[in-house]
Amino acid sequence: MPSTLIHSIRSLVTNDPALGTGPLGLVEDAAVLVEGERIAWVGPSSKAPQADSAYDAQGQAVIPGFVDSHSHLVFAGDRTQEFNARMSGQPYKAGGIRTTVAATRAASDEELAANLAKHLHEALRQGTTTFETKSGYGLTVEDEARALRIASEQTSEVTYLGAHIVSPDYAEDPAAYVDLVTGDMLEACAPYARWIDVFCEKGAFDGDQARAILTAGKAKGLIPRIHANQLSYGPGVQLGVELGAASADHCTHLTDADVDALASGDTVATLLPGAEFSTRAQWPDARRLLDAGATVALSTDCNPGSSFTSSMPFCIALAVRDMGMTPDEALWAATAGGARALRRTDIGRITVGARADLALLDAPSHVHLAYRPGVPLVLAVWRNGALAV
Ligand SMILES: [Zn+2]
Repeated sequence: MPSTLIHSIRSLVTNDPALGTGPLGLVEDAAVLVEGERIAWVGPSSKAPQADSAYDAQGQAVIPGFVDSHSHLVFAGDRTQEFNARMSGQPYKAGGIRTTVAATRAASDEELAANLAKHLHEALRQGTTTFETKSGYGLTVEDEARALRIASEQTSEVTYLGAHIVSPDYAEDPAAYVDLVTGDMLEACAPYARWIDVFCEKGAFDGDQARAILTAGKAKGLIPRIHANQLSYGPGVQLGVELGAASADHCTHLTDADVDALASGDTVATLLPGAEFSTRAQWPDARRLLDAGATVALSTDCNPGSSFTSSMPFCIALAVRDMGMTPDEALWAATAGGARALRRTDIGRITVGARADLALLDAPSHVHLAYRPGVPLVLAVWRNGALAV
């Protein structure tokens, strides 16, 4: 098996406190041995083993590849005009999704696959090595299953989100749409998905509908996650915790009971600051969640309507600047936190046996990701042990 020693790393984030300083397990003057698709050794450069080849990190920082646990990338068209209108003073409403539904239904398989590949590559260049992505712009049995089939060809983290909004075809009979989502559509989609998700929000699906949808998905072997408490207070977060959701996503409007539920359960609170940025909405309060003991992840929510960014470094910068996270907490949330939100132990860390997913920064420390916002700091990316960027 070919091996590569990445050496002369000024500062290495391992996310394993047993390997180095603090919760990030920081190792100074470090080296990492990559063997095949896995990490085979981590430690100080001075003690590094021999390898077939060497890569000189030239005194810069190395971090685990970002784990983006929430995106909506099977779509066609864009929503430039909606963004432009919103930035001219009109409020965001969930119904804007219908524009993308029409464009996505009209697109060919090839167009959807090419658009997905383009955005995944864009994210990879910015250090993201694992992507979750969802359906939700088809809203028919055929179009939802098609979206998931296309997604499953490019990532293993695929989420069935037939319950994104009530399909415009069922505007007069939302209950019949919930029946479809939990019946024929679920049947057609489950083979391609690992997760089931629902947009629990006023104007989308209420608590009872969300419960029915996630429960049906669980019965089919899918693991729940939930869009919860984004635009207003509501039942989503506590429902997610009760049903054993891996993650409750958005968490912008939380009561004390919501925070307590997240802190006491093992549902990760995934915060998506790109959405608040792009809709000029109130930031989620990461500090409150962290102080209560909840596990926090950061993700892009990349989608053409409410958060059209694929940049995890941008989300880190927002979380540090506006959500009360320290640079260390934000880096952890964007790597190990995302892995927790996907219930993965093989990614989001640089430890022996983990998948060799790493990003080399054009900076001496991971702190620069927030300190130098908007600057393209990712110099090189290894995914599955191969140099991909
Ligand atoms: Zn979303």
